[in-house]
Amino acid sequence: MKDYLIGVDIGGTSVKIGKFNLDGVLLEKWDIPTDRRDQGRHIVKDVVDSIYARVRLDAIKGIGFGVPGPVKDGIVLRAVNLGWQTTYLEETVRALLGNHDIEIAVGNDANVAAAGEVFQGAAKGCRNVVMLTLGTGVGGGIIQDGKLIEGKHGVGGEFGHIVVDHVHRFACNCGKNGCLETLTSATGIVNLAKKRLETFVGDTPLKGYESFSAKRVFDFAKAGDPFCEGVIDEVADTLAYALSIVSLSIDPDIILFGGGVSLAGQYLIDHVRKFYLPYVAPFITEANFALATLSNDAGIYGAAYLVR
Ligand code: ZN
Repeated sequence: MKDYLIGVDIGGTSVKIGKFNLDGVLLEKWDIPTDRRDQGRHIVKDVVDSIYARVRLDAIKGIGFGVPGPVKDGIVLRAVNLGWQTTYLEETVRALLGNHDIEIAVGNDANVAAAGEVFQGAAKGCRNVVMLTLGTGVGGGIIQDGKLIEGKHGVGGEFGHIVVDHVHRFACNCGKNGCLETLTSATGIVNLAKKRLETFVGDTPLKGYESFSAKRVFDFAKAGDPFCEGVIDEVADTLAYALSIVSLSIDPDIILFGGGVSLAGQYLIDHVRKFYLPYVAPFITEANFALATLSNDAGIYGAAYLVR
């Protein structure tokens, strides 16, 4: 009797594991540390051992994995944070499980987080969903007709590295300049504010801080400081421009915002909407934006969704 789905979200410091019933109700979750020694070669066995210690293998319908890197057909092409080069994850797990009839699926973590929101979060029941994760970097995921879009190179939904900024051209971690994440991640917002401060002659409470966070820029903007409002307008305009390209490519039912920057909430959504509608008109006349709701659990929900 197959009673459970297992969702595994492998991160650089810990692996989150969730046990779900077949309806997608989370029954139990736990963490194990990510052992990155020896190019991360112990991680997969640690995960399988940990599941084995808690759940009867013959009761598991499937185990889904979310990993921080491009994935294609069950193969992780690379995952720098785990120390992995090309890793045959699906094959490795299957070998460790022996003869048990358990479905295995693997996806990129940002795509998997989007799937989690479709399964039990803000996009529940939607068929076509785009999710943008605005954190230290910018990740993204596309679910089309209920399926994750991997693409030929495993980078479907990597919106964070669409080049949209031809003015500041900040360097990106990927090696290019002007990527979406260089202006709209938490780091990017701070860099943009600092850059604009260099030539700003008026007053802003931000000048009283040697270092500050993206949250502080949002807080001052919300309180009506014109300088910070200008920074957030540029961030929102940049996001809106990138999303208009995405929207006119795949026309999703809903666009979700997740990650630390999305804690700015409705204020962020309202600002992106203001710039987005002129970019997509007259073909699209409404902005169906929402905040993601599963927070750090989106990965385990989405991984379970892959094998539902
Ligand atoms: Zn980039």
